[in-house]
Amino acid sequence: MLGLLLPLIGVLAAALAAPGDPPPPEGTKAVVCPRCNAKQNVDSSLPGYECWQCKLAVPLNR
Ligand SMILES: [Zn+2]
Repeated sequence: MLGLLLPLIGVLAAALAAPGDPPPPEGTKAVVCPRCNAKQNVDSSLPGYECWQCKLAVPLNR
């Protein structure tokens, strides 16, 4: 019985967790690099950030 139940719970948990990305930590902002589309959380108190992947300097619009 447990062998049947556990995979079912896994599917349910995946379905519940799937929608959307987790929210960014407090004080940071989730952004997507305009050049390489890398997702990253940046400090929202800064005027801009440097992409970790392509090193593009991106200003934050606030
Ligand atoms: Zn980039």
